[in-house]
Amino acid sequence: MINIIPTVDHEIFGNGRGHIENNMINPLKKMANIFDNNGVSLTIFPDITEIMSFKKYSSNLQKYYSKDIYQEVKDQLLDLYSKGHDIQLHVHPQWSDATYKNNNWILPKRNRKIDDFNADANFNSFSFLKENKTFLENMIRNIDKNYEIIAARLTNQGWTQPSKKVSRELIRLGIKYHSLSNNTNRLALPYWPISNDSGEILYEVPIFTVNRSIISYFSLFRLFLYSHNLIFNSNFIFGYQKSDSKKSQTKRNYLIFRQKLDFCHLSHKEMEAQVKIALQMSKKINKTYNIVMISHSKDFFNGKSLDKFLKIMKSKYKDVVSFGKFSNISIK
Ligand SMILES: [Zn+2]
Repeated sequence: MINIIPTVDHEIFGNGRGHIENNMINPLKKMANIFDNNGVSLTIFPDITEIMSFKKYSSNLQKYYSKDIYQEVKDQLLDLYSKGHDIQLHVHPQWSDATYKNNNWILPKRNRKIDDFNADANFNSFSFLKENKTFLENMIRNIDKNYEIIAARLTNQGWTQPSKKVSRELIRLGIKYHSLSNNTNRLALPYWPISNDSGEILYEVPIFTVNRSIISYFSLFRLFLYSHNLIFNSNFIFGYQKSDSKKSQTKRNYLIFRQKLDFCHLSHKEMEAQVKIALQMSKKINKTYNIVMISHSKDFFNGKSLDKFLKIMKSKYKDVVSFGKFSNISIK
């Protein structure tokens, strides 16, 4: 058995470019409709640091968008949560001191990592995480007083788990799962403990990833998608595939590509092929294998492929594949 957890990172581009309505609200709406029509829940990871900046500059944004766009972002999240979708914590540290001038976002430290906060005596990674978590909790508790954040996805650290220090801080904040790693060296493991603090464990639940040859990865659709993103974000292609460590960089085979199970990038056939690999692995470990799918609202152009994939899973694979969200994940 495998349990598929579809997730979406909800944000504009990491350098502050992009359009909140066209790159966030509209694609998320289309995506969520497809999930709703197939009876599947989505786990949304909105970039809370960015949304806090939308709030701070909401009157400036209102002039540009001719409406209260911050309120629309918030209303959409509340609406999707009330329909049964899950919302968990995503943070982009480069937004923590963002300013908005002449209809542009200015992010002074584009590559800031969460561990960088600890260089400042007045501000540390724990306060940063706590502030973001409290903001999201307060937002959702308006409609569900029992809402709890149990999963986080940090960023700007490569596709890997958080540092030991930050992992302990996540545990202190009640976070049980982190999900960002694409470490194919651990492919046989559906999750692993990354920190244990006073009996509380933080698990990494990786984004399902398989190694593929770069030649077989070529597709006209992805050429379009990467070209589109390149217009917004010149770091996109090269920044996208960061290795886990210096060791893996030196040993890296550039003909091998780490193909994440991303429903914005893959065709339904490629996603089905990955599910088959996951099913073989679940037989080896003899328990339910949680498979995290990733996506970004700003990358969502291929709704037909997602719809077809969900329909195939719900028919041909219905006895061996279930769908879940982070709030009801089971790890034993
Ligand atoms: Zn993100």
